[in-house]
This record gives sequence, C-alpha cells and structure tokens, in this order.
Amino acid sequence: MAIEAIYFDGETSRDNKVLISLGPQGLEITGDTVSAQTWSLPGLRAIDPPYASQPLRLAHRRQPGARLIIGDRGFTEQLLAQAPHLRGGINPKRALHLFLWIGSGLTVLAGLIYLTLNFAPQKLAAFLPDEWSRRVGEQMEASLVEKARTCQSTAGNRALTALLANLAEGDADMPPLRVRVYDIPIMNAFALPGGRIVLTRGLLDKAAAPDEVAGVLAHEIGHVAHHHPEAQLVRIAGVQILLSVATGTSGGTNASSLAGLAAVLKSSRDAESEADGYAVAMLSAARIDPMGLKHFFEKILTEEGKPSGGALSRLGTVFSTHPVTTERIDLIKPLPEGAQIKPPITDAQWNDLKKICGP
Ligand SMILES: [Zn+2]
Repeated sequence: MAIEAIYFDGETSRDNKVLISLGPQGLEITGDTVSAQTWSLPGLRAIDPPYASQPLRLAHRRQPGARLIIGDRGFTEQLLAQAPHLRGGINPKRALHLFLWIGSGLTVLAGLIYLTLNFAPQKLAAFLPDEWSRRVGEQMEASLVEKARTCQSTAGNRALTALLANLAEGDADMPPLRVRVYDIPIMNAFALPGGRIVLTRGLLDKAAAPDEVAGVLAHEIGHVAHHHPEAQLVRIAGVQILLSVATGTSGGTNASSLAGLAAVLKSSRDAESEADGYAVAMLSAARIDPMGLKHFFEKILTEEGKPSGGALSRLGTVFSTHPVTTERIDLIKPLPEGAQIKPPITDAQWNDLKKICGP
C-alpha cells in the first residue's frame, strides 16, 4: 500500500509529492519529480521524536539533506513497528555496547587508582611539590591544635634545638623539620606534611628522661623521612576519587574535617614499623640509648584506654595515632654491650625543655 508523503531533496526548497511504501529493502520512494529510491530502515533517522499529533519527519544516513515528511498516522505506526529506533529512547543493543565501553573504561580507571593506592602512595608523595606539602601541613597543624598555645621559652627552645642537633648526628640526610610544642594536656606526638612535628605538653610531662623524648622525636622524624603523612593524604584523596567513580557523584572532599585529619594522622602498621626502624637506626648512630623509645612505648601501652580531655581529645592519645604493640616494643633492642651512649641533652637542658610550656 502506497501513501502520499512530501519529499525535500535538501538542495532546493521545492516540496515534492511522492508515494512511499514499505518494501523488502526498506522505504520505497517514487514520484514524478524525484528519482526512485529506497531508504533502508536502519539508516533512517527521526528528525524529531515521533508525536501522534505531528507528521513524522525523516532523514537518511545516505541522503544528507534530504527530508521525508509523512502525515499518515497508520503508515507511521507501521513504520515505527519495523524501525523502532525511530522512537528514540534506548536501543538495547547499542545501549549494551555503550555500557560495556564505559564500564570497561571505568574498570580500568578504578583498577589503576587501586594499584596506585596500594603500591605507590609513598612514591607519589615524594613527588609532591615542597610548597604544597608545606602549606597543607601548616593548615593541618592549625586545625589540629585549635586554639592551643605554642610553648616556647628561650632556654626551652635552645634545649629542643640541641636535642634535634644531636639526633641529626644519626642521619646525615635528616629532612628539614619544624618541631613545635603545644600546651595540650594529652600525651601525643605526630608528624604532618612538610616536615612538621607536633609534641604536646602532656608528652613532655610524662617523659621520665630526655632519651624518651629523643626516641619519640626519632620515630616522628622516621615518618617525615618516609613521607608517611603525604602518602596518607595521597591515599585519602585517591579513595575519594574511587568513591566518586563508584557512586557517580562528585563527592566533596573533607580533608579539613577532623575525621579527615585524624585519618591522615593514623598510621598503618607498616608505616609504624618503618618509622621504628628509622628511629632505632638514627638513635644508634647518634649514640642515644634506644631503650628510651622502648620505655616510652611501654608507657603508651599503660595509658591506652584512659579517658582524655581538652583539645585534641577527639583524636585520642598517642596510641590512636601510633598504635603500639608489644611486638613493636620487643623489636627495640639495647645497643650492644660496650657501645658508648651519651645523653641527648644535659640535665639542665632537660629541665629547660620540661618547663617550655611554663611552670
Ligand atoms: Zn608513628
């Protein structure tokens, strides 16, 4: 059954009356003013989505510019039944194809990120610009210590400098550091991006000897030297990206939130062992007794679980940022018998350091 339709050739504006019918090869078009042609069904394209109230306007892949306008509703329905892609919407075959393409792309991307996160955060972190690490560390420190007062006194600062200078004898490549003591009652110490190390008054109060503070500092310097804080940032940023890929949202980062900060501080077991290894090597080379670190770790174990208050309380004690285990403690051995040991600072300097936050 042939019905009337209108044909534009795309070159002139003349509307040609044609007869169209559905043949075995597709839409057959004949007319006095156009050459007979057949438009294959898969090549058809609806210029607008088909509406019952409007004539159907068609184009064809092989006839650029040409248009066919069909007003007959019955014929249109018949055509749509044979060429459902004209209805728009989803073509299941093409959709599956597209889905597999996008899916495999995302899988590859997620896989790459996963591999990066698992094996390379520390390597990636080493390539972060110093300026970036410095700024991030500065902001993190300000957020973490909140309004706590910085502890300093001329004599106390001098004692801290002397202690760091003695530790530096244990590592010729010791990274540049910025160590600060804050008037915070909780016993804690942590390393931040950009070589920043924070000690609390609580930690100095609990330390029985300068060897213990030297040990804690050496451990924190180990975190700095191995880029652990930066690596943790890379890991967290990567997880955010993975999550947004998985959920399809842009997922706002909350590195400034306390939960985010605490996550950056929390060291993995591997990072802790690495920092311990560095500390023991540094202390031994500087001829400082590593038993100080051991004693301090034992102290941390007994403090674990005690309630804490004041600023930083939400972060918990030093135990939550550097989980101590008896295994770790057992790995710290005394220097061999006969090895020369020296105090990291004099008794007077130790006194000055203990009082750096005031009497
Ligand atoms: Zn640690």
